[in-house]
Order: sequence, then C-alpha cells, then structure tokens
Amino acid sequence: MENLSVSATRLRRSPATRWTSVRIVPPMNLVFFGPPGAGKGTQADRFAANHGIPKISTGDMLRQAVAEGSRVGMLVRDTLQAGALVTDELIISLVAERLEQPDTTGGFVLDGFPRTIPQAAALDAMLAERGGVSVVALVVHADEVVRRLAVRGREDDDAWVIKERLRVYSRETEPVLEFYRRRGAVTILDGNRPLDEVTAAIEAAVTTGLRAKG
Ligand code: AMP
Repeated sequence: MENLSVSATRLRRSPATRWTSVRIVPPMNLVFFGPPGAGKGTQADRFAANHGIPKISTGDMLRQAVAEGSRVGMLVRDTLQAGALVTDELIISLVAERLEQPDTTGGFVLDGFPRTIPQAAALDAMLAERGGVSVVALVVHADEVVRRLAVRGREDDDAWVIKERLRVYSRETEPVLEFYRRRGAVTILDGNRPLDEVTAAIEAAVTTGLRAKG
C-alpha cells in the first residue's frame, strides 16, 4: 500500500476555524537529476527548505566522510579526487541507511543519486512500499556546465577532473534518465535560466505532478 502522509502546508482553515479540506498527498520522494554544474544541489537545497523535507546529497555525505577521516572517507577519497564514481555497493548502502531515518517518511530530495542503472534499481527496491520516486531533470548546455563548474572552485572542479566527471555522466548516468523516462516519471526542465526561474519551474512541476498522482 502506498505510504500516504498529510502535508501540513496543504491544510486550510475555514472562517469558522474548522479544518475543511485535509488533503492527503503522496510523500514527496524526489530525485533531482542533471549533469555536474546543472544547479541541482542549489535547487535541491531550496526545495527541501521550502517543504521541510531533507535533502540527501550523496556528494555531501562522501565529502563529509573524507573530511572526518572515517573508514568510508579513506576508501573514497582518491575516487572523489579523480572524478570517478565510488562503487554502487558502497553508495547504495549509505543511501539505504539514510532512507531508514524517520525524517524521510514525508518525502526527501535526492541529489547525486542514483547515478547508475544498478543504483536506480536499488532505489526502486528501497521505495517499493513508499510510493516510488518522481524525477526532476535539469537540462543545461555543455558550455554553461563548464562555465559554472569553473567558477564554483571545489577541489574536484579543476579542468581535467571536470572533463572526467562529464564523461562519467554521459556514460553511466545519462542512461538512468532513460530508465525513468520510459516509465513516465520524469519532468525535464530548462536549467540554463536564472536560478529563481528554475526554482519556480520546479515548484510548479512538482505541485502539478503530485496533484496528478494523489
Ligand atoms: P557530487 O557532489 O554529486 O558531484 O558528487 C561528488 C563526487 O562524489 C562524485 O564525483 C563521485 O565521485 C562521488 N559520488 C557522489 N554520488 C555518487 C553516486 N551516486 N555514485 C557514485 N559516486 C558518487
């Protein structure tokens, strides 16, 4: 059975202050998808804050592990620096553990996961009883991606590593979009526009999508 939750923002009071329309909506289980530099991290932050749901960024989780020098951090440090992907096994177990936390029951925004077909299949299995996911994909021109990454200045943003990450994206990650597209679970948005416009477009798309689903 689908796991339904009441969205507090959708509760409305009548003039007599009685609850009149308690809308039951499916949890907002979202994946923000796009190449490195598409702005999905920023948009995921905004969306999660607006809706009071957690943003789950696998890149952030791994960078934090590296910073802490944990066992996972030691394992993945070189991989991150090279712009390659960490193993499916490791990342799937990190995400599975995170999705067991109670703050995710009303929904979440995944940023940076899934990045391979096996990861997408594993996510399906994790959410089989929780309503599945909807995907918001940001499409950005290649030259705009390179420009944005160059100004961001993260450690893995130097020119060679950027190229490698974009290669990995088209080889491993783009097929994931097709995987979701085939089942009609994707909204594709133009991510070249200014940040606020993209934020508004995501908001509109998700709200419409959830209405259709619920
Ligand atoms: P991001 O911040 O999403 O660009 O992720 C930074 C780096 O973390 C990537 O270049 C990968 O090395 C690693 N990473 C993050 N998410 C994943 C994932 N889902 N699968 C494999 N590696 C990942």
